[in-house]
Amino acid sequence: MSSQKVITRFAPSPTGFLHAGNYRTALFCYILARQNNGSFFVRIEDTDKARSKKEYAENILETLAWMGLSYDGEVVYQSARTEKHKAYLKKLVDEGKAFVSKETPKEPGGRTEVIRFKNPNKKVTFHDLIRGDITFDTTELGDFIIAKSFDEPVFHLAVVADDFDMGITHVIRGEDHISNTPRHILIQEALGAPTPIYSHVPLVLSPDRSKLSKRKGALPLTAYRDQGYLPEAVINFLALVGWNPGTEQELFTLEELIKEFKMERINKAGAIFNEEKLQWINKEYIKKIPASEQTALLTKWAPKLTSLDATTLSKLAPIVFERISTLSEITQMSESSEFDYLLNAPSYMPEALLWKGKSTKDESANHLSKAIELLSGLSENTFDRTIVKETVWAYAEGVGRGQLLWPMRYSLSGREKSPDPFILAELLGKKETLNRLTYARDILLKK
Ligand code: GLU
Repeated sequence: MSSQKVITRFAPSPTGFLHAGNYRTALFCYILARQNNGSFFVRIEDTDKARSKKEYAENILETLAWMGLSYDGEVVYQSARTEKHKAYLKKLVDEGKAFVSKETPKEPGGRTEVIRFKNPNKKVTFHDLIRGDITFDTTELGDFIIAKSFDEPVFHLAVVADDFDMGITHVIRGEDHISNTPRHILIQEALGAPTPIYSHVPLVLSPDRSKLSKRKGALPLTAYRDQGYLPEAVINFLALVGWNPGTEQELFTLEELIKEFKMERINKAGAIFNEEKLQWINKEYIKKIPASEQTALLTKWAPKLTSLDATTLSKLAPIVFERISTLSEITQMSESSEFDYLLNAPSYMPEALLWKGKSTKDESANHLSKAIELLSGLSENTFDRTIVKETVWAYAEGVGRGQLLWPMRYSLSGREKSPDPFILAELLGKKETLNRLTYARDILLKK
């Protein structure tokens, strides 16, 4: 690579919500700029007035901010550059490199005049960092349209003009643009603009190998954010779609990606968007969340837990975080009442306390009485899962574990599925544990 400064840009069209594949391109543009101490710009290509929407443009900027892909300078809006585009069009026409062409409208009300590029009809070769040398014979393109009028340039003219003015050295974009590149190179040559280095990244495909497209329901990345995916995980995942460092390493921070990533190693074949892999990576990043941040996330995603005291919350957090792959699972757990035993004593029918429905009420009451007796001897301050387990374990083994552990767990949580009784006891504390065990024993004995 030459010693010139590397300048990249992400140039999305805000005609819909962008999906993961688009942001993967943004990530590559960002990384290439950062690994060369260059600049990364964002240009919103909003010249298609009918299809561009402000909300889509806002969503793009919101997503980049969430991902932490900071860009240099101000966002460039292509629609604000029509005067520049017009000047380039005029120049091309004045120099005889483009011309105003009379057209026979194909439909009523169609255009009678457009601006066409005077095609020199030649072979154009460019070097693509991912695909190598690519040669096109431009003859088949004819004198292609570069503007509908002087105020309405089409994509080909606008993209070349803007890349020129922004000093873009590296264009990274989807491979659906490959066939546009010869047109762009012809326009660059006509304008005396340098040709940037191109990388056409393969499309991201859904698992059935169909195209992941805006129309085919691919989710905007903000939907993943709202489901509790972490930006670090999404970045890590996107980098691995169709790229690998040639080692076994799968977890990369953005800093590491900036060190390791090589455009030339991007797979030429379309890459598959594998949600399970995204989940796995997210789980890995969730495991890394420090304890000091867990409780705030817990109450953010399950607001009803705010009524718990700090100690209980900090004991609950690691138990929850070790189970989840996305933060929204906390909300699901909360909404399916999984945490309710911490907020209120459970209510249930006494029969639910009988192990596999086999033991009698008297037997179960006896086991609970024994547990109450054993646990009463423990100190409130050291009442944790280890000591609770050690205290009742020998008795439980003696009578058959389930005979004690089932009614113990059920009386503490009121649920068929919950953490084990030792964890429950620790979360509830000595006093509440004994209250609930006593209540359960008493309703078993009620005649
Ligand atoms: N605006 C184009 C698109 O969203 C990208 C143009 C480019 O990167 O050159 O597909």
